[in-house]
Amino acid sequence: MSKAETHPEIRDAVRKLCTRFPGEYWRGLDRERAYPTAFVNALTEAGWLSVLIPEEYGGAGLGISAACAVLEEIHRSGANGAACHAQMYTMGTLLRHGSEAQKDKWLPKVASGEIRLQAFGVTEPTSGTDTTRIQTFAKREGDSYVVNGSKIWISRAEHSDLMVLLCRTSPRDEAGKPSDGMSVLLVDMREAVGKGLTVRPVRTMLNHATTELFFDNMKVPAENLIGREGAGFRYILDGMNAERILIAAECIGDGRFFIDRASAYAKERSVFGRAIGENQGVQFPIARAHVQVTAASLMVDHAAALFEAGEPCGSEANMAKMTASEASWYAADVCVQTHGGFGFAEEYDIERKFRETRLYQVAPISTNLILSHVATHVLGMPKSF
Ligand SMILES: Cc1cc2nc3c(=O)[nH]c(=O)nc-3n(C[C@H](O)[C@H](O)[C@H](O)COP(=O)(O)OP(=O)(O)OC[C@H]3O[C@@H](n4cnc5c(N)ncnc54)[C@H](O)[C@@H]3O)c2cc1C
Repeated sequence: MSKAETHPEIRDAVRKLCTRFPGEYWRGLDRERAYPTAFVNALTEAGWLSVLIPEEYGGAGLGISAACAVLEEIHRSGANGAACHAQMYTMGTLLRHGSEAQKDKWLPKVASGEIRLQAFGVTEPTSGTDTTRIQTFAKREGDSYVVNGSKIWISRAEHSDLMVLLCRTSPRDEAGKPSDGMSVLLVDMREAVGKGLTVRPVRTMLNHATTELFFDNMKVPAENLIGREGAGFRYILDGMNAERILIAAECIGDGRFFIDRASAYAKERSVFGRAIGENQGVQFPIARAHVQVTAASLMVDHAAALFEAGEPCGSEANMAKMTASEASWYAADVCVQTHGGFGFAEEYDIERKFRETRLYQVAPISTNLILSHVATHVLGMPKSF
């Protein structure tokens, strides 16, 4: 099936919504490092952020391929879904592992937009990708957990009401396996900020509303523990497949944005008395970018289909994220090159999208870690760590 045929109504509607938020809107926010509140509100009101929430909780109850279509079209339009995409996959941790009472309490409000669940707290400054070495510790005291530690790169924390937080509840050397002894807490940031939680924005090369968090005896009600104490790492891993597939779809959207822009410019820009696109030295890189993005999009479709069917898809989600992020980065580079000096001009939106799409080879998981997974888990080569 060609990409154009998946969820055409969703794609049309999202495209239409995005025309209300043109490049000028995103450039202004980028300059100020401001959060796209109006855009996020418009997506929420139209129901696009709750497509994965089951109907009984007020969402659309659709599969991940629908969410991929939403995010791909957002990115193809020149916009950026990173301001809110986490709501789609962090919600899954609550949906799959939360109690009935937790789901009844939170999911309808997330679906309606009354509260935002956009923060996902895993990464720490000292542990990096080696998640089992996180040090943020939640100690049970009566009806509460008391949390101490810190997190880094926690995006949207200033714009979210809730955060899914991974902490240790047993020290690593006392847990059975290194991945045991971690737990997931749902933190109500509205209650916690100023009462044990400090949020410090981190300015980056792109407008991503990311932050550093410090926990100093932050109290979280014990009823906000998701699932079983000590089993949290598995719950987080479950959500990561969805995250990788959705972010891969954003990369496909970015790639198509760059190819649309590059091929249009190559047709209209005239130098030496002819369109630059008449030169194969200009055409071929754009054609190569198209081939790579098209191939990557098939990998994303494949991973999404497995996820929707409830099949194991860890390797496919990783491979989709890697191929899509590399294809979008190549397309970004080609688009800048095709535009010559104008590729660097703010008003063309290309330099902004170039900065934005670079992230995806590092976050949510860096390429080396994907290669390591494929080498050891798919190809059976020896582990290096
Ligand atoms: C803008 C932004 C937003 C983010 N948002 C969030 C968020 O909302 N929530 C959250 O929890 N995290 C978030 N992250 C964190 C992100 O997931 C991590 O940055 C990413 O997983 C890489 O981890 P690290 O930065 O600790 O790199 P490190 O683990 O320190 O690795 C550094 C480099 O070394 C390589 N490397 C490390 N070990 C090996 C090895 N054994 N073999 C080969 N290569 C290796 C890595 O591939 C990487 O290139 C965000 C990051 C950024 C930049």
